[in-house]
Amino acid sequence: MTPEEFRRAGHKLVDWIADYRAGVESRKVMAQVRPGEVKARLPASPPARGESFDAIQRDIDTVVMPGITHWQHPRFFGYFPSNGLLATVLGDFLSTGLGIIGLAWQSSPALTEVEEVATDWMRQMLGLSDTWRGVIQDTASTSTLVALMCARERSTQYGANRGGLQAERAPLIVYTTAHSHSSVEKAALLAGFGREHIRVVPHDTAFAMRAYALEALIRADLAAGRRPCAVVATTGTTTSTALDPLAAIARVTQEHGVWLHVDAAMAGSAMILPECRFMWDGVEQADSLIVNAHKWLGVVFDCSLYFVRDPEHLVRVMSTNPSYLQSAADGQVTNYRDWGLPLGRRFRALKLWFLIREQGVEGLQARLRRDLDNAAWLAAEIAKAPGWKVLAPVPLQTLCVRHEPAGVSGADLDRHTQAWAARLNQSGGAYVTPAVLDGRWMVRVSIGAELTERRHVEELWALMREEAERPRRSG
Ligand SMILES: *Cc1c(COP(=O)(O)O)cnc(C)c1O
Repeated sequence: MTPEEFRRAGHKLVDWIADYRAGVESRKVMAQVRPGEVKARLPASPPARGESFDAIQRDIDTVVMPGITHWQHPRFFGYFPSNGLLATVLGDFLSTGLGIIGLAWQSSPALTEVEEVATDWMRQMLGLSDTWRGVIQDTASTSTLVALMCARERSTQYGANRGGLQAERAPLIVYTTAHSHSSVEKAALLAGFGREHIRVVPHDTAFAMRAYALEALIRADLAAGRRPCAVVATTGTTTSTALDPLAAIARVTQEHGVWLHVDAAMAGSAMILPECRFMWDGVEQADSLIVNAHKWLGVVFDCSLYFVRDPEHLVRVMSTNPSYLQSAADGQVTNYRDWGLPLGRRFRALKLWFLIREQGVEGLQARLRRDLDNAAWLAAEIAKAPGWKVLAPVPLQTLCVRHEPAGVSGADLDRHTQAWAARLNQSGGAYVTPAVLDGRWMVRVSIGAELTERRHVEELWALMREEAERPRRSG
């Protein structure tokens, strides 16, 4: 493809995306395909000769689009909001168009320096002190793995440079709750702690970690000769956006010299609102922190911010520094390759920088406040509707709800919940995520897509009542 051909095809594709976004509300939210249906529309082997871009683009509508679930739809209430504001789509596009790779500062200085500035803008927007330094990773899962490796190396005084965990005299322990994200367990396993050394700290009725239970577990491990290493606390758990009490947890981690990693992947966006910052009171005592800019905030996937207090420690853990990557400027610049796992890095800072500039801090704040209002409104409506329950506190924009018809309980109630959620999703009218809370199925409603206004939440609530309250077949 020549630059002129690119110009023509690119304009067409941008028009296509603009039309898609402008008309997304008229589509069914959930993809209506059966397993294997997309694959079956594609040739089994690759074309021997190149095809025209027009031919490729035609297949977007006929092959790809039927298999798309529309996350940017105003009635998408599944998983979590993953907003891709259009300015950030352009930032992602520019990053790709430049076709550069950040191996070192010198391999494209702007890639590093825009990232330093954009992550520092984010630090300020989140109300964090200037003792934090930020880096952009692909996902929170990667950042949590990095955090646990840094915790491990702090506890072992860089044991990886000797015999690694295999040579340690006593096992290192990681603490979290049953409500933390699955990436925490995965990271602990990949970082070599071993399943036996992951402690599940009891939670309270609001699904938040009990700090005194953490303290008791740490003391028991110490008494048994084991070594408490890291606590992963969550600001905004996946199922119900529960808020682990960071200040109380930090008192425990500081007393025992334990690494505190805060997973605020989802709820971190809300910390651009001063009125929400009480939710992570104590965060200044943490060692590391993640906030996914690619969720509610609005940067198109992927863009996960990892903040640390001690970048020198991070670099010491992550750096390998072969000679071909060294340059004269190394002493004066940031080499982000030493801040995470991959060597090659994308120019992700562009899309974050575009977002903040195009929206302004106030624009971002206004949208999040709108979503918080919508969630509070829906929670109040559900709480007063007969037969309906809101099952967990709603500090942010996620609701855990259940319709409990009189006389239906246990496995029957689970079947009822799953059935109405499936009907609702299959209708295409809206999209929600069924999940298990306290051993029972319920439905999660996650509000905060860019296009979601009050009327869409009203439409969702009407659909929920229609699907859940319709007369049930007996037997
Ligand atoms: C979404 C989420 C994650 C995982 O995020 P990825 O970036 O997809 O790895 C981890 N923790 C919490 C609390 C989340 O909400």
